Amino acid sequence: MTTATSRTRDVWFVTGSQTMYGEDTLRQVADQSYAIARALDADPDIAVNVVWKPILTDAAAIRRLCLEASADDSCAGLIAWMHTFSPAKMWIAGLDALGKPLLHLHTQANVALPWSTIDMDFMNLNQAAHGDREFGYIQTRLGVARKTVAGHVSNPAVRERISVWARAAIGYAELRTLRLARFGDNMRDVAVTEGDKVAAQLTFGVSVNTYGVTELASAVDGMDPARITKLVAEYEDLFDVAAPLRLGGDRHDSLRYAASIELALRDFLAAPGQVSAFRAFTTNFEDLGGLRQLPGLAVQRLMADGYGFGGEGDWKTAVLVRTLKAMSEGLPGGVSFMEDYTYNLVPGQEVILGAHMLEVCPSIAAAPRVSCEIHPLSIGGREDPVRLVFDAAPGPAIVLGLADLGDRFRLVANEIDVVPPPEPLPNLPVARAVWQPQPDLPTSAESWLTAGAPHHTALTSALTREHLSDLADMLGVELLIIDADTTPRQFRNEIRWNQAYYRLAQGL
Ligand code: MN
Repeated sequence: MTTATSRTRDVWFVTGSQTMYGEDTLRQVADQSYAIARALDADPDIAVNVVWKPILTDAAAIRRLCLEASADDSCAGLIAWMHTFSPAKMWIAGLDALGKPLLHLHTQANVALPWSTIDMDFMNLNQAAHGDREFGYIQTRLGVARKTVAGHVSNPAVRERISVWARAAIGYAELRTLRLARFGDNMRDVAVTEGDKVAAQLTFGVSVNTYGVTELASAVDGMDPARITKLVAEYEDLFDVAAPLRLGGDRHDSLRYAASIELALRDFLAAPGQVSAFRAFTTNFEDLGGLRQLPGLAVQRLMADGYGFGGEGDWKTAVLVRTLKAMSEGLPGGVSFMEDYTYNLVPGQEVILGAHMLEVCPSIAAAPRVSCEIHPLSIGGREDPVRLVFDAAPGPAIVLGLADLGDRFRLVANEIDVVPPPEPLPNLPVARAVWQPQPDLPTSAESWLTAGAPHHTALTSALTREHLSDLADMLGVELLIIDADTTPRQFRNEIRWNQAYYRLAQGL
C-alpha cells in the first residue's frame, strides 16, 4: 500500500545516550540511529517526514530539544530510542516540558546477534534492551502518554505501527489548530449534540464558534452567475445529473441554487482576512434564514474535499469527521458524517441502515460515479434540496461517536462491515450505508446505548481501531471499542472501571 500523501509534517527522531561512552562510540550511535531514521523516512507509507536529530547526552540538551519540538508547528511528534543507556533523570525536565505526541521505539541497530564475534564492545554499543527499560520507567513515573513499539525497523509490522501512530499525530496536530464554523445552534431540545465548547477547546484544541446564517444566505443570493454556471458544468461532468436538473431541464434553477450554496460556503470557510480557514462546519435545518434549500449537495462536496461536517449543529461529530479525514489523507477508503437511521431485525439478517437527511460524503461511495438528484424533504419547510445519491462501498469500516459526559468526553467506536443493500432501494432518495455491526446487532446496540454514545457518527473505511486508539491516547480521552470480542458483561464492566479511572486520573 503506497500513499499518495504529500508530507506536510515532520516527526523528530531522537536518540538518547550519555557522554560516558566516549566519542568513538557516540559516533557509531549517531551513524546507526541516522540509518534507522532514514529507513523510516524512506517508507512511503509513513505520512510524515522523519527528521533525524543529533544524539542527546545531557539534560540541558534534552530539555532544549523538547522545548523546540513543542514550539515547532511543523513537528507533529517525537520518536525516541535509547540506543545505549541514557540515565533517565536527564529526561525529566524535557519530558515534563514536551507538548507533542511521543512514540517510544524499542529497537536496535542489528537484527541478529553476531554470536561468533560478539564481545564487550558490541555489548556496550547495543544495549537498548536495558537502555529503553530505563526510559520506559521514567515515562511511566512521569505519566507521559506515549505509544511503545518494539521490534526492528526492517520488520514491516513495526513500520506499520509507526505509520499508524504518525497518522494519529497528524490528526492530533490538525485538532490543535482546527477552527469550526457553526451556522446556527444545535437542533432545539436535542441533548447529545450539546457540549462544553470550552472543555472541547482545552481537550482537543478545536475552536468552535457560531455565525449567523444570514451572512451565508446573502452571499448565496449575491453569487456571481458566471461562477454558478461554471460549477454547474462541473457537476454535469462529474455526476449522473438527473434530467430535470440539467441545463434546459425544468428544475435546473434548483441545481444552480445548490451550486451557489456551495460557492458561498467555500468563500465563507476560506475565511479571508482571518488567522486561518475553517476546516469544519455545521448547519441546522431549523435555522436556515434566507436559504431556500437545506444545503445537501454543497455539504457532500465539501466533505469530499476534506471538510468536517455535522448536521443539526452537531459540532462534535463535525470535529471527528475533519480529524479522521486529516488522518486518512492519501489512504484508500473514505470518511463521512453518518447517522444510525433504521434497522433490519430479521433474525440472522440484522443490519443497520445508516444515512442522513442528505449529508453523506461520496468518499465512501461504492461506484466511482454517483447520481445527483432532487427530491422533496419532508422536514424543514423549504424548497426541494439537491443531493448526491449512492450506496456505500462494502468492506470493513468503523463508526466513531463522541459524547460529552459533563465531566469529560467519551469516544465510542464500533467495528462494522459495510455490506451491499440486500435489495435495491429505488424509493430511498438519499445516500446510505448498510452495515453489520460487530459482534452482532443486539450486542453492538446494547453496548452503544449503555455507553451513552450518540446517534451521529463519523464513519471511516480508511482507518483502523489502532489509529483511533493512538489518537485517543494522545488526547487523554476515553475510547470504548465494540468489536468482535465484545460481550455485554465485559463492556458494562469496562464502562464502570473507566468511570473510576478517568475520575481518578483527573484528580479528586
Ligand atoms: Mn441527524
